[in-house]
Amino acid sequence: MIGGGSHHLRPGEISLASGGVLFLDELPEFSPAVLDALRTPLEEGVVRIARAHVRATMPARFVLVAAMNPCPCGAAGGPGHCRCTPVALARYARRLSGPLLDRFDLQVMVPVPEPSALFDPAAGESTAVVAERVVAARLRARSRGVVCNARIVGSEVDALAPLDSAARATLEQAVASQRLSARGLRRVRTLALTLADLAGQDPPLGRVHVLEAMALRQAPVGGVDQWAVTDGGEAS
Ligand SMILES: [Zn+2]
Repeated sequence: MIGGGSHHLRPGEISLASGGVLFLDELPEFSPAVLDALRTPLEEGVVRIARAHVRATMPARFVLVAAMNPCPCGAAGGPGHCRCTPVALARYARRLSGPLLDRFDLQVMVPVPEPSALFDPAAGESTAVVAERVVAARLRARSRGVVCNARIVGSEVDALAPLDSAARATLEQAVASQRLSARGLRRVRTLALTLADLAGQDPPLGRVHVLEAMALRQAPVGGVDQWAVTDGGEAS
């Protein structure tokens, strides 16, 4: 995953996926040590590998998309079907560390579809329509001098993603009640900026933007259907 090798250094999956998407299905099935080794590359966009006589820095700027079942038996998305014990649920949730989850910009619950939806799916927006909106949002981000909002660093957040007083009060409350970490705060602000960009609105960000951003990264792990996306520098 990370790269390495005993005689010749080889790039890992995270370097092979650089500039693209790395999709990890069944996220809790990966070793916790491997998952935690993703944390630094997710922040820095590079991976540093050191072996006895060799050191190397390889590119690792990827969008991490991950999926997991709601619980080990997979049935917790519907009421009354889960066969997992509380101990098994807790063990499953513990496989994902808080610091790793904190790096996911989006944590979205995917509910079990109604049977009728499987037979008669409602028509959604076409990909082409959504793509137009994404391109417009990306252009707004580029006009700020960044490739995308997720690349806005901490020192630039105040200037590029300013808050109105209600948005600021909402975020202060979330941090004070420990629902939001310092890292999470920056990610919520850049995600809120992307939501404003998608709506064609200019900063300052309002309360509605930050509340929506927080709601998009709050799926609890264990007991729910979930899939999640990090920025990895690119998603928001
Ligand atoms: Zn279960």
